[in-house]
Amino acid sequence: MKFSWRVLVLWTLPALVIGFFFWQGAFANTPADMGKNAASTRMTYGRFLEYLDAGRVTMVDLYEGGRTAIVEAVDPDLENRIQRVRVDLPVNAPELISKLKAENVSFDAHPARNDGAIWGLLGNLIFPILLISGLFLLFRRSSNLPGGPGQAMNFGKSRARFQMEAKTGVMFDDVAGIEEAKEELGEVVTFLKQPEKFTAVGARIPKGVLLVGPPGTGKTLLAKAIAGEAGVPFFSISGSEFVEMFVGVGASRVRDLFKKAKDNAPCIIFIDEIDAVGRQRGAGIGGGNDEREQTLNQLLTEMDGFEGNTGIIIIAATNRPDVLDAALLRPGRFDRQVMVDAPDIKGRLEILQVHARNKKLDQSVSLEAIARRTPGFTGADLANLLNEAAILTARRRKEGITLTEIDDAVDRVVAGMEGTPLVDSKSKRLIAYHEVGHALIGTLVKDHDPVQKVTLIPRGQAQGLTWFTPSEDQGLISRSQLKARITGALGGRSAEEVIFGRDEVTTGAGNDLQQVTGMARQW
Ligand code: ADP
Repeated sequence: MKFSWRVLVLWTLPALVIGFFFWQGAFANTPADMGKNAASTRMTYGRFLEYLDAGRVTMVDLYEGGRTAIVEAVDPDLENRIQRVRVDLPVNAPELISKLKAENVSFDAHPARNDGAIWGLLGNLIFPILLISGLFLLFRRSSNLPGGPGQAMNFGKSRARFQMEAKTGVMFDDVAGIEEAKEELGEVVTFLKQPEKFTAVGARIPKGVLLVGPPGTGKTLLAKAIAGEAGVPFFSISGSEFVEMFVGVGASRVRDLFKKAKDNAPCIIFIDEIDAVGRQRGAGIGGGNDEREQTLNQLLTEMDGFEGNTGIIIIAATNRPDVLDAALLRPGRFDRQVMVDAPDIKGRLEILQVHARNKKLDQSVSLEAIARRTPGFTGADLANLLNEAAILTARRRKEGITLTEIDDAVDRVVAGMEGTPLVDSKSKRLIAYHEVGHALIGTLVKDHDPVQKVTLIPRGQAQGLTWFTPSEDQGLISRSQLKARITGALGGRSAEEVIFGRDEVTTGAGNDLQQVTGMARQW
């Protein structure tokens, strides 16, 4: 079982508190030095006075500053045997001493033993100490948990949430399909490795590089590869980590990050999703977000603050360079912009080769065929695709990944998880005709992408699907292609109408109609 401070504290604290009260109770009523003389029988004060008047009391020992007495008295009922009893004395009984003197009784007062006082003091202190240390432990634990309640108390102290990797272990070889970006950034590696080559001729080493591209195209991977190739530490933080509820926290995180980076220079700082902090200032509703602006100002200041040749290079990633503040993009800050786009067929093949290195592929699998089937896939999609295929292979207890698994994995990555097959019913018939409608139009219309397969097995949100082989060139779509796609998308609804009649068409075409609207706007 895992050792947990919280459990320890939660169980020991109550136990100690209860124990303490028992212990206090035990000590409070019994003077420590009364032990050997302790009398088990008690006598009331009134009876004691009667005994005193009757001359039966022979000796009195006073304890606890005169609050308790052990009395030796002769008891006539017990054949004049000497009896020791305990008497609780009233607080205000000064006349007792004079009475004892008058009766000629020997008496003695015993001061409370000193160690008793020490124990008492300790006893009084131990509870608050335990309580405070218990609370402290609990507090410390909860503030270690991300987002724990302790966090709120710590907002002033920025706990920078960046990660540092001394060695990323990623090399340029691991990044494929984005050759232009790699070439541009190869220079940055030289800046980090041999800065003197540039400074000797008076060149200023760039401080910032902005990687622009859709998610999953390998921006983070590329930044890691630069750090890996140059053999320098890699600091990474996401832009959204800077943005906090409290004004000033983001700014202090930026300061922390740069301080750490300076201590570890040369190094790479990678800021993912920089648009979260770097948006145009003053653009928000009501004059913008103060916290975000302060953070951005701090970032700008830090970037100006260090000399160009300290060996810190900041790489930022975004897919929205248009919303960034102009001050971020001016020379001396992120003045280099590198596009990292979704790979073409050659790029996809190379990425597949990188990710197939550690996977067992069946002889029949051709990576080229997969690359051809996956236009528009990013590096992350392709990595995911091979991984899904490997998982399916393991689940089916096969030796190596075959084409079947690849096909299933492509379907899964594109359209989501496979659902349970539909039971025979009217709606199954309707969906079947609907999909056939798409397939027919897709095949008959000249500029439409060719049909690949039609299925009635639900995936993701869709009950049935018609797959088309997408064309390689996804960038520019012609008017005739758009028209063909609009016609194809309407084919499902038309088939429903032809077979079942106008009154029987269903909401199944809702998604098609949305797509048609989008395409019609582009037309
Ligand atoms: P981004 O930062 O652009 O959103 P990432 O760099 O985080 O994308 O990519 C996520 C994962 O996808 C990587 O860890 C890697 O496995 C894979 N990947 C993405 N692009 C590539 C590429 N060009 N070459 C190899 N693998 C890639």
